[in-house]
Amino acid sequence: EQAPVITVDGPGGAGKGTLCQLLAEQLEWHLLDSGAIYRVLALAALHHNVELNDEAGLMPLAAHLDVQFPAESGEIRVILEGEDVSRAIRTQEVADAASKVAAFPRVREALLRRQRAFRARPGLIADGRDMGTVVFPDAEVKIFLDASAEERASRRYKQLQDKGFDVSFDRLLSEIQERDDRDRNRAVAPLKAADDALIIDSTSLSITDVLDRVLSHTKVKL
Ligand code: C5P
Repeated sequence: EQAPVITVDGPGGAGKGTLCQLLAEQLEWHLLDSGAIYRVLALAALHHNVELNDEAGLMPLAAHLDVQFPAESGEIRVILEGEDVSRAIRTQEVADAASKVAAFPRVREALLRRQRAFRARPGLIADGRDMGTVVFPDAEVKIFLDASAEERASRRYKQLQDKGFDVSFDRLLSEIQERDDRDRNRAVAPLKAADDALIIDSTSLSITDVLDRVLSHTKVKL
């Protein structure tokens, strides 16, 4: 029998990353950050001078992507072609590029097996946009974590300010809305809640509230 999966889908900045790390720690399950795979592909395209709208050019990169996620507690580490890109993939430029390459059906297809390979005992927490709808449609537990665009932009704004970056709130908000639109409106595997997903709006919830809700829902389901 296959290992159990909890999928967590939703727009960028809703708190999926933090939630998934906490879930993986508490349950001692594996963690798949599928967005990191699309980000790494985008970075590989930028490194190899492949245009982000060149689906045929992206295909060999997607098929042979040399990416590793060394297992470690704490921060997720990402290695591309032997180089630590854990920080490089977190920029706004790479996020935008990721959502462009992610719109191509054949690119998504080429990355499917790689994502499904993360499913292992005792279980997997899968973070992304199409985890519950496409990659793990048979997941035991599906969560869709949402929050208003304004709230997501203001969380991001605070994070960046705390790190000493001088950013414009309006610009952050429009970047978030643009990426959302692209993710929600693409033809294949658009961002949307699975029919059997528990939808949680985190706009006015703390991360602990969200974690508690997911854990109690999970206990009923598993
Ligand atoms: O979650 P993260 O912000 O790292 O994802 C970056 C981009 O990768 C998203 O905006 C989306 O376009 C794409 N993505 C996707 N499917 C996933 C995860 C991410 O299309 N399962």
